[in-house]
Amino acid sequence: MRIAILSRGPNLYSTRRLVEAGEAAGHEMHVVDTLRCYMSMATAQPQIHYKGEQLEGFDAVIPRIGASITFYGTAVLRQFEMQGVFPVNESVAISRSRDKLRSLQLLSRKGIGLPITGFANAPDDIPDLINMVGGAPLVIKLLEGTQGIGVVLAETRKAAESVIEAFMGLSANIMVQEYIEEAGGADIRCFVVDGKVVAAMKRQAAEGEFRSNLHRGGSAQLVRISKEERLTAIKAAKVMGLNVAGVDLLRSARGPLVMEVNSSPGLEGIEEATGKDVAAMIIRFIEKQARPHRTATRGARG
Ligand code: ADP
Ligand code: MG
Repeated sequence: MRIAILSRGPNLYSTRRLVEAGEAAGHEMHVVDTLRCYMSMATAQPQIHYKGEQLEGFDAVIPRIGASITFYGTAVLRQFEMQGVFPVNESVAISRSRDKLRSLQLLSRKGIGLPITGFANAPDDIPDLINMVGGAPLVIKLLEGTQGIGVVLAETRKAAESVIEAFMGLSANIMVQEYIEEAGGADIRCFVVDGKVVAAMKRQAAEGEFRSNLHRGGSAQLVRISKEERLTAIKAAKVMGLNVAGVDLLRSARGPLVMEVNSSPGLEGIEEATGKDVAAMIIRFIEKQARPHRTATRGARG
């Protein structure tokens, strides 16, 4: 098969591993820089051009679209979908997962365990919003944040009010969340491919830190997950409409709580911590599923 990887960097670990795994299985792999794709549309003739040439003849496309280029990246992916190229994750599912509030609303509707989470627009509503999530200590998150940046633990009500006011003063979009203290600075990343958890790791925050992100000094190790955790991760990926997803769970006293569902989960941390060939599993999923025009949406319900 001819498989395109939409990625900004051919040297990124995840991109390299997908190229390797695809080539090892006998496929022709092409890394395509998402931001260098340009497109034209005419009735029933969606074209994609790349560095002066027309891109065509792909059987599947693996989107690795960074959070900062979601808008353009999903437009490029939609163009592939309109041509009938099979996407590992569909553009609509990626857009959905990038909107943290929308994601939580969808997960909540399907009865998936979540930390109590609130959001508000007006500073006057802050005191009541804090009550709604159960008071301090609580976690305040910038909606645009990644890698733990913009996630703040407010130990007291006063601290929470000040931080929320400061963020609102900067016109930042935030959400306020119940602090799951019993998680002990750890979270569980479940890597889901095609409705199965194919690898799972526990990330533990550095001493004195509550955020377990590897970028914040956290460390990762292989973990055995419970049946309930496995089913929660699978269901969360399904609700989001993602074939490949990184589902992050907090272990709480009332069971697994979904923190976020990532549509371009990195391979480096999970492959290192678990020793599993996750890239090959993604390639096998493509081999099993990719047929022309097999995407459910083809961008139509964009
Ligand atoms: P980001 O998208 O920046 O990674 P997260 O929402 O994943 O932001 O939060 C970063 C880390 O902070 C999580 O991996 C987790 O360890 C910790 N954390 C986030 N929310 C909570 C919470 N409600 N209770 C306890 N710990 C949390
Ligand atoms: Mg995270």
